[in-house]
Amino acid sequence: MKVPFLDLGASYRELKSEIDTAISRVLDSGWYILGPEVEAFEAEWAEYCESNHAVGLANGLDALILALRALAVGPGDEVIVPSNTYIATWLAVSAVGATPVPVEPDPATHNIDPDRISAAITPRTKVLLPVHLYGQPADMDPILKLARKQNIAVVEDAAQAHGALYKNKRIGGHGDIVCWSFYPGKNLGALGDGGAITTNRADLADKVQVLRNYGSRVKYVNEVQGVNSRLDPIQAAVLRVKLKHLDEWTDRRRMIAGAYSENLKDSGLILPRVPDWADPVWHLYVVRSPERDALQKHLEEAGIGTLIHYPIPAHMQDAYKSLGMADADFPLASQLADEVLSLPIGPQMLPNDITIVNNQITLGASL
Ligand SMILES: *Cc1c(COP(=O)(O)O)cnc(C)c1O
Repeated sequence: MKVPFLDLGASYRELKSEIDTAISRVLDSGWYILGPEVEAFEAEWAEYCESNHAVGLANGLDALILALRALAVGPGDEVIVPSNTYIATWLAVSAVGATPVPVEPDPATHNIDPDRISAAITPRTKVLLPVHLYGQPADMDPILKLARKQNIAVVEDAAQAHGALYKNKRIGGHGDIVCWSFYPGKNLGALGDGGAITTNRADLADKVQVLRNYGSRVKYVNEVQGVNSRLDPIQAAVLRVKLKHLDEWTDRRRMIAGAYSENLKDSGLILPRVPDWADPVWHLYVVRSPERDALQKHLEEAGIGTLIHYPIPAHMQDAYKSLGMADADFPLASQLADEVLSLPIGPQMLPNDITIVNNQITLGASL
């Protein structure tokens, strides 16, 4: 592979000595569940997100599930989700026994279209669950306004948006609870699974903290039926190292995205559009083309790794057959699944790699 989609090994190698020192510190401490390393990361992550509280969890899906449980969402409730998202957003809703109610994206940003949310709200709607997809913040103000007016909670899926800004404020405390994943490929990624929630509400932070540890505050005293979903202190130590480099790594992603946007502006591809109130962090650089499959094949033959986020929309997955939805019910999500292509992007990508991708796309477009 000349240009891999993402080189996780290169990320580790860049910080190897710092990361190895941090891991050794945890190993030497003799403290392997929760404890000071997790608490230190939680404090640093909350501060970075301009939020009052952070709670470290085992992964991003659990963050979404425990956020919904903390808000007492359950059977009979409905949660508004994007039709265009990673299936984890929907699975969290199903996991608590509630029903995902999809809303189509704004075709320009690929994020949930606030203007279409009202029509999907019913008396059973408990939560609006926007996703900051591809690292682009969703349009939060109209979403928050709608939620406040109708007394509905807002949970944000920020698994792709570490450090993104909405109207100059960090994603992390707009809604009631914000959910994070530290899966290795995310912008802030651990060397294994990890997740967290951030919130400005002490009551919700407390609920999630109790839920993640068997529903227990005091050992062997169980207040609620909790789960085991604790952030691993070794991963917390790794994340503390990487957090110090996050802004620099985001700047590199912005540079790569800028180079793509400049060089591909006449390529015929539909390029990402950034509203003026958004500072995205380019978790993914997603282009659109009706000739997507041919373009992907051409790039693959040229040794360039691309991915499709996502090839089958959630409403067409077998997992959601029981909802009885057809392709035509959410045509925008279905069309995106047929047309989107994610180009290589990552903090260790070299300027020459960008040139190779740009040249091959130009060549591919003229074939
Ligand atoms: C990665 C991701 C998740 C799930 O995170 P995990 O840590 O893999 O459980 C949820 N939502 C979105 C949008 C994601 O990209």
